[in-house]
Amino acid sequence: MDLQQLADLLFPSISGTLEDWEEAYPKRKLPEGASVTRLGPSPTGFIHLGNLYSAFVDERQARLSDGVMILRIEDTDQKRKVEGSEELIIRSLSHYGINFDEGVTLEGEKGDYGPYRQSERKEIYHTAGKKLVESGWAYPSFMSEEEIGALRKRQEEQKILPGIHGKWASERELTLEEVRENLLAGKEWVLRLKSRGEGRESYSICDGIRGDIRVHPNIMDTVLLKADGLPTYHFAHVVDDHFMRITHIVRGEEWLSTLPIHLEVHEALGWEPPVFCHTSHLLKMDGGNKRKLSKRRDPELSLEYYHQEGYFPEAIREYLMILLNSDYEEWRRDHPDTPLEDFSFRMEDMSSSGALFDMEKLHDVSKDVLLRISEEEILAYLLDWADRYAPECAPEMHERSSELLRILSIGRDAKKPRKDLIYARQIYQFIHYYLDGGFHIEDPLPERVSREEAIGILEEFLAGYDHEDDNSAWFAKIRAIAQDRGFALRMGDFRREPDKYKGTVADVSSVIRLGITGRASSPDLWNIMQIMGEERALKRLEDYLASLQSESIA
Ligand code: GLU
Repeated sequence: MDLQQLADLLFPSISGTLEDWEEAYPKRKLPEGASVTRLGPSPTGFIHLGNLYSAFVDERQARLSDGVMILRIEDTDQKRKVEGSEELIIRSLSHYGINFDEGVTLEGEKGDYGPYRQSERKEIYHTAGKKLVESGWAYPSFMSEEEIGALRKRQEEQKILPGIHGKWASERELTLEEVRENLLAGKEWVLRLKSRGEGRESYSICDGIRGDIRVHPNIMDTVLLKADGLPTYHFAHVVDDHFMRITHIVRGEEWLSTLPIHLEVHEALGWEPPVFCHTSHLLKMDGGNKRKLSKRRDPELSLEYYHQEGYFPEAIREYLMILLNSDYEEWRRDHPDTPLEDFSFRMEDMSSSGALFDMEKLHDVSKDVLLRISEEEILAYLLDWADRYAPECAPEMHERSSELLRILSIGRDAKKPRKDLIYARQIYQFIHYYLDGGFHIEDPLPERVSREEAIGILEEFLAGYDHEDDNSAWFAKIRAIAQDRGFALRMGDFRREPDKYKGTVADVSSVIRLGITGRASSPDLWNIMQIMGEERALKRLEDYLASLQSESIA
């Protein structure tokens, strides 16, 4: 069969050659050892933690080697395309400090290796497809879904691996005439790889993360171009990664199973493959077992979740780095104040057995990270978050922003600083008591304090209250009330002789705390009352007293 004629018949509008594209996209002039990485998300309207995880590896690899990181939009599946996805991807990643040097941006495309949307690169794929036909590495296939289904059924009956391969790939033998007839009859066709893998030995390649991995050669005549003329992932990314001069393909381990196809496509085109770097799945604990995070079951897989909850980008970055490199935590202990960017991240140090994503751990990391962020920044982030996600309280938060700044600061400069702040929604709940909007008494009186007792405590406290008292004078008054009313001043005393006391001084201050914050626990109460101001603080205590009194009567 004349392969050139077949190629011309299938791709009548392609006149250029792969050499033309080689010239159009010359080798990059970058410093020795510079990596070129890319993220290739599909615009499905959903961006997830796995994308961020991969992007982070791409970003570190490119940055630390003075290389380039590209955003390529993999939009060959037109059915799954969702309007606005590109913007969502770009904005979400940028929120976490991932900014691309090249590719699709909000201001249009940037770089000399575009177009950067696969849907606009058809001519390049078709040139590559034509080349494969010319060299006997690909052929057109006209089989319908039904025919393929029937073939698979026959293969299954004969206990043979189902699919188009080896002698089962009968269309490899179609004559030029038959192809022409099918085309004239308007039959749909796809382009298939004519695999040469059957009978080949397995071999090893070096994965950038996993080290040596064993590859079992591909034998399937995989589809390269679909009936709509667009390429499959298997074909598109090989062509793009080659012509965009990518050096490292960072992607999820779900692609390991089809890696043999990708290696064979490289071979067919006579290209040296980039370094494949397969990250491991993000896992979670579920009922004592580890399992993959799932889009359907785990809201925390979506990046949107972290926006809505108001996780700080710095905390997410820190946690991802911990997941990525096992020696990062040790480095952090030795360098508590150094920016994460200074850590010498290495792909070789990444785990290949699954990264356990644990919300508890994220929270612990976040508490530490927030200690390194100034209260001003935390407040600014919180206010932004509130504008979007807590609009009912946002105006009062803005109005009281200077007070909130002081509230957030309580206990943070101590030797052992308080670690109360984790993420915006939690911080919002944590300081919510301070706002008048929606303020209410959330917790019950301490067990050892009756309502009558509480009324007495509040009356006495209010009678002796002086807003000018410093912290110790303020507390001395509470101690006096406690002693007066038969509460122990020391926990130890109470424990030794529980019958002698009504409770402890902590029970007494709890009553005041409840009146001021509505809660049984809070940061330093004297501080809160000072920030609140005399009028608001006393009003809260009076209101609480009145509500206890009215309950008493009722
Ligand atoms: N479009 C592919 C995905 O979203 C990209 C995989 C890759 O990075 O090669 O999974």
